Amino acid sequence: MRRAFYIGRFQPFHLGHYSIITSIAEDVDELVIGIGSAQKSHDPKNPFTAGERVMMIRHALKDADITHYAIPIEDLQRNAVWVSHIISMTPPFDVVYSNNPLVIQLFKEAGIEVRQPPMFHRGGYSGSETRRRMLEGENWRELVPDAVAKVIDEIGGVERLKQVFKTDFD
Ligand code: ATP
Ligand code: MG
Repeated sequence: MRRAFYIGRFQPFHLGHYSIITSIAEDVDELVIGIGSAQKSHDPKNPFTAGERVMMIRHALKDADITHYAIPIEDLQRNAVWVSHIISMTPPFDVVYSNNPLVIQLFKEAGIEVRQPPMFHRGGYSGSETRRRMLEGENWRELVPDAVAKVIDEIGGVERLKQVFKTDFD
């Protein structure tokens, strides 16, 4: 049984994440998805709670052929022991998929195999671009799986993002 680990903030979960996950699924039997900065929500860069992000991932991957475990991981602010912090919270895994230089460095130092997945339309498919389009009233739905758009509608995500983006000078 080979199990991989992949971490992101998923603010929100978008089609870039979805594409990476379906390609990882071709290599391994199961996938552990770390939901980073789990304690954050209701801020312009992190509008959604950990539980809402669990919902997005669960619904987005319903029809994908991969057994996954989405595990919220709070920030530790202590990089030297971050890998141990993750291992303490997750099902065991054999290999990590990441393109984040710090994540790659920390797992390599811990002696864990790291693979770098290909990027999918990085310009368009990103959390920042999705949030920008939500704020500007542009088409953000084309950047996320349909199931994620439904979750965001259910929780009033766009209205929340617009509200927490304002300041009391607006
Ligand atoms: P933000 O813009 O909010 O930082 P993001 O799109 O980078 O969002 P994260 O949740 O920070 O999303 O990313 C998790 C991981 O997914 C990161 O390692 C990032 O490199 C990777 N990733 C994000 N978008 C893509 C994409 N389009 N193709 C491949 N990998 C991606
Ligand atoms: Mg990012």
